[in-house]
Amino acid sequence: MSTRIHLSAPDVGPLEESYLTRALRSGWAAPAGPELDEFEREVAERTGTRAAVAVSSGTAALHLALLSTGAGPGTVVVVPSLTFVATANAVRYTGAEPVFVDCDPETGNIDVALVGDLLDSMRAQRRRIAAVVPVDMFGCCADYTSLLPLCAAAGVPVVADAAEALGASHHGRPAGSFGRAAALSFNGNKIITTSGGGMLVSDDVDLIRRCRYLSTQARQPAVHYEHSETGYNYRLSNLLAALGRAQLRRLDGMIARRRRLRERYAKLFAAAPGVRLLAEGDAGANCWLSVIVVDPVQAGWTAQDLARHLGGADIETRPVWKPMHLQPAFAGSRGLLTGAAERLFAHGLALPSGSSLTEDQIDRLTGRVKQFLDRR
Ligand SMILES: *Cc1c(COP(=O)(O)O)cnc(C)c1O
Repeated sequence: MSTRIHLSAPDVGPLEESYLTRALRSGWAAPAGPELDEFEREVAERTGTRAAVAVSSGTAALHLALLSTGAGPGTVVVVPSLTFVATANAVRYTGAEPVFVDCDPETGNIDVALVGDLLDSMRAQRRRIAAVVPVDMFGCCADYTSLLPLCAAAGVPVVADAAEALGASHHGRPAGSFGRAAALSFNGNKIITTSGGGMLVSDDVDLIRRCRYLSTQARQPAVHYEHSETGYNYRLSNLLAALGRAQLRRLDGMIARRRRLRERYAKLFAAAPGVRLLAEGDAGANCWLSVIVVDPVQAGWTAQDLARHLGGADIETRPVWKPMHLQPAFAGSRGLLTGAAERLFAHGLALPSGSSLTEDQIDRLTGRVKQFLDRR
């Protein structure tokens, strides 16, 4: 076994094995099956939504949700610049134009005041805005309290990218329950994994029904496979749903482990000037990734210095997402930018946050951080 300490490795064990084996032995190795139905029901319940459709990735869930808002050629979709590329790619798949908005420096989440300004200017230009897509950054919910009324007043639907946020909450309401629909991801490094998968959740049962239909090649209920429009092959398999169900049983425990790790980091860095934890005040976060932000002038060192020191001990760290407006794939895109995302990209560092880290690994990790700080 590798001694490398990863950022967020999958956390799977005997429970996952037993769920998968049971599903396999039940004869439902076909794409559809009872595990899939149950997994959808359980995730809908967990996110406080009425309906869900399990799909092959979080990106696929976003794509389908955007299609359901009418995103397409000639429309714009507002997305944060600070995000994983999937958010912006899903917009491109529909033919709509992504327009980027900068973030709140405290949380890394979409800057709601800027969204307001952008909606005003888009409407003044008579552009049709299909949707606003906030991202629950690193498992901390966007500021839905301000964002939802603003978008409702503008008549623009919100599609939440909750890919990182299963199990998180905002003022007591679960991540996934905000906006018209929300996309979840079960990729290998997310808070729970199906080794690859996602889900779209919503209170709008018709929306989910239509997305389920689009996710199965838009196949009409006829024995000869009738198709009157273009669909997608986006369905999650029954076996992977079984894996997801086992992971869901363990979600609260896994969040607790990640939270304890974040508390260790908070203690470690408390005495270090110029270092803060991103979204530290958010008690509802699922603590998917713990991210520090370093002010190099105050601290006397940079995020890159610490990354190098940890890398020397085979400990993985990573900068926060490189903002979309800096990505060659989105060169020339429009946006409303303040520099906040660029500063987080320059000074932020995601630290190992996985729930499968052993006590020995956590000791090795925190010892190495302490050694770095002591030498400053
Ligand atoms: C992981 C992630 C996605 C995409 O999920 P996949 O399941 O990998 O397609 C989308 N948005 C954000 C913010 C993510 O972190």
